[in-house]
Amino acid sequence: MKYDYIIAGSGCAGLSLLYSLLQSPSLQSKSILVIDQAPKNNNDRTWCFWEKTPGLFESIVHAKWNTLEFLATDLKKELNLGSYTYKMILGLDFYNFVLDYAQQFENVTFLQETVTGIDAEDAAAIVRTSENSHTGTYVFNSTQVFNPKITEQNSLLQHFKGWVIQSEKPVFNPKVGRLMDFSVSQKQGATFMYVLPTSTTEALVEYTLFSPRVLAQATYVSALKKYIKEDLNIDNYTIKHEEFGVIPMSLAKFEKTSKPHVVNLGTAGGFTKASSGYTFQFIQKNVAEIVGHLEAGKHPNLTTSFKDKVYQWYDRTLLDVLLTKKLTGKEVFTRIFQKIPAKKILAFLGNESSFAEDISIMNSLPLKPFLGSGIKQL
Ligand SMILES: Cc1cc2nc3c(=O)[nH]c(=O)nc-3n(C[C@H](O)[C@H](O)[C@H](O)COP(=O)(O)OP(=O)(O)OC[C@H]3O[C@@H](n4cnc5c(N)ncnc54)[C@H](O)[C@@H]3O)c2cc1C
Repeated sequence: MKYDYIIAGSGCAGLSLLYSLLQSPSLQSKSILVIDQAPKNNNDRTWCFWEKTPGLFESIVHAKWNTLEFLATDLKKELNLGSYTYKMILGLDFYNFVLDYAQQFENVTFLQETVTGIDAEDAAAIVRTSENSHTGTYVFNSTQVFNPKITEQNSLLQHFKGWVIQSEKPVFNPKVGRLMDFSVSQKQGATFMYVLPTSTTEALVEYTLFSPRVLAQATYVSALKKYIKEDLNIDNYTIKHEEFGVIPMSLAKFEKTSKPHVVNLGTAGGFTKASSGYTFQFIQKNVAEIVGHLEAGKHPNLTTSFKDKVYQWYDRTLLDVLLTKKLTGKEVFTRIFQKIPAKKILAFLGNESSFAEDISIMNSLPLKPFLGSGIKQL
């Protein structure tokens, strides 16, 4: 059988695409095969992102904030997000939401297989798995089969361990999320704590680093324990859930298209912002573009605008500054958050800023280290 669409990899990007296709009156009856090596029944990650209006997944937003704060040594700044809202979605809520919705469509088939390669052939693409091969007019891939090599020279890793803790006493303000607290030790690289309270007694507390290598698990655990006790002043708490993640922040090229009739999605398609690791909102924007192309009867390939290239250059420049250690992450983020209103920073990090806003952010940073890296990354 030849499918209209094969979705290889059903994580955030694959299932976002599936949901959008099934929402589209002209595409919802296409034959769709979804392949993943995992059953997607674990709460393996928490996604946070910001947007100005309710999004496609508004009904499963777990918590949201209109105020965040940024901390560094001797600095505590409350960030007013303007028209942006910072939102949190739990991985398992997202998987269940899309998979339940897809149940009503007989034209959608799910297979649990491991993809080993994808080839193009005339007007189709063939997904090879450890068990079979499957043909589709278009393949949307978010597995790692085409990923470039991540090395210490071309990438930093954003690695983190997060605990959802429940405190005995009410200690949190659920209206204010702590986006970054850089007051912690910077010995291991750019290091910050991320604290997102969802009630007065519950919060996600995450120890996050940008560095070349992951650490021993015991190091994350002791940093979390120390921060909860000494900075959050919590003595009695239980750990309700934990997550661990590694996101590549890379200068290596993740291709949007590797072969004809194959579109790469999500991290595999370069949707992860190289300078921050945020991916969720870029997945949603890119999926909307793909679906728009298909509805118009066009090839689903993603376009790259001039402004997209400019953002890629900003990201690469910042990453180069961090990789070559011209400035520390703490210095860069502290300068930006000290001088620039949060709504402008979020617009910039979400690839939605004007050139005037870009210039104001550049002016908040020292020219010399960025000039060298900027020229190198042009
Ligand atoms: C713990 C964690 C927390 C994160 N938090 C945020 C956040 O707050 N905000 C944000 O914007 N981004 C966040 N990210 C980054 C990014 O949004 C996620 O990694 C996101 O899941 C990327 O979506 P994806 O579809 O590209 O990859 P995934 O969601 O990882 O999906 C890829 C899918 O492909 C499958 N797969 C892989 N290889 C094969 C194969 N060979 N054969 C078959 N199936 C295969 C996997 O099982 C998986 O289901 C986080 C990442 C992690 C790991």
